[in-house]
Amino acid sequence: MNARPIQLSEHFRDKRWSTSSWRTKAAAQQPVYDNLVDLEGVLERLRQMPALVRSTECVTLRQQLAEVANGWGFLIHAGDCAERFTDIHRQELTRKVRAMGQMGLLIQHATQQPVVQVARMAGQFAKPRSQGMETVNGVQLPVYRGDIVNDVTAHADARRSDPQRLLQAYLYSAAVMNQVRALSGESLTSLGLSEDAWHLSRLGELTQEERSYRHVVQQLTTILKSAPDGAYDAINLYVSHEGLHLAYEEALTGTGDDHHPYNLSTHYLWLGERTRQLDGAHVEYFRGIHNPIGVKIGPSCKPEELQALITQLNPNNEPGRLTLITRFGKDRIAQSLPALIGAVQEMDARVIWSCDPMHGNGIVSSQGIKTRRFQDILSEVRSAFDIHDAAGSRLGGLHLECTGSDVTECLGGSADIQEATLSENYTSACDPRLNASQSLELVFMISDCLQR
Ligand code: PEP
Ligand code: MN
Repeated sequence: MNARPIQLSEHFRDKRWSTSSWRTKAAAQQPVYDNLVDLEGVLERLRQMPALVRSTECVTLRQQLAEVANGWGFLIHAGDCAERFTDIHRQELTRKVRAMGQMGLLIQHATQQPVVQVARMAGQFAKPRSQGMETVNGVQLPVYRGDIVNDVTAHADARRSDPQRLLQAYLYSAAVMNQVRALSGESLTSLGLSEDAWHLSRLGELTQEERSYRHVVQQLTTILKSAPDGAYDAINLYVSHEGLHLAYEEALTGTGDDHHPYNLSTHYLWLGERTRQLDGAHVEYFRGIHNPIGVKIGPSCKPEELQALITQLNPNNEPGRLTLITRFGKDRIAQSLPALIGAVQEMDARVIWSCDPMHGNGIVSSQGIKTRRFQDILSEVRSAFDIHDAAGSRLGGLHLECTGSDVTECLGGSADIQEATLSENYTSACDPRLNASQSLELVFMISDCLQR
């Protein structure tokens, strides 16, 4: 099935791209550094650093995503909102990788199709913010922009943009990547996947739904136990981060084995909701790299705007190049998504549609804690499946903020986290994540949608 190329607008056809051509455009959400000499020194050092991924790996991922775009397979894209330098621990990483593998296995079991696993990991250090400044205890401070820029501690010194953090971000990414690679090819069982790791003990009084979850888990554990070595090398993880800090991304962009430019710090990058301006620096940077990419799409995106974005980001209409990650909120999806699906169908664009049920469903608890309700997250995912079905389109991916341990950041789920217990183990420096049992429960609860 050959895809028809999309007509590139005049505006882009004549413009030459380079790793630094984004510098001629307005760049939203960039930190301001007061020591430009230091910044330049660090960027120069980063330009010399080894690649963290091979371009051939990006090509393989793109091919796997092309299958998904063509209707076969499912993408699970998940991980922390923001990785933190101080949170990088061997065991915690193993738990994250294991949780990804478990979600992948549940999806594979439901769909009987391949699952592509992409983690928000090994470089997810830069955060876009809605405000540049915030008031903490009556003091005005620059906001926290992720560990790659400053520190979350509410103090003027900590919030200063520090160029050395760019180098640290690279080195931590390399350390995480090394562990991801070490675990690649491992079987889930070798990562300590006992029945308990499926959080069965948390289920308590079993409802009908929970009984069937137990049944699925028992089936999966039997399959895993009896599988010959290597049959469930479920750990085949790609890494990704938001391509936000453009000077960093530029420094780590190089030439791939096929002589095309690639961001060599990660397999996959996505463009955030706040930085996808058509004439902005981020779109300019993204259009030139050959990695597979995603773009976040929120309720403000108009159908024509989406068509223009697709035209700029995937002019050759190659399946696997572009994922549209929608994040409307459970109450707005029905109003926003159908017209955008129509716009994609009208131009016959080969994209993957992925649902991010996290970023449109943020609430603040009565104690002032940022959280999300498990039920709202589930509701948006279910609506996304229904709306795509009704429009003759296909939901091919799920984008989650989650982690492998027992955090108490999102409300509800069978773990039944309440407002009063949110602060017990709330460790996210940014948005609230599903904990391990909530993530598995969510994926399990959409099995019926995945089986359609
Ligand atoms: C995120 O993915 O953490 C994020 C900031 O998302 P969005 O750009 O959709 O708001
Ligand atoms: Mn987030």
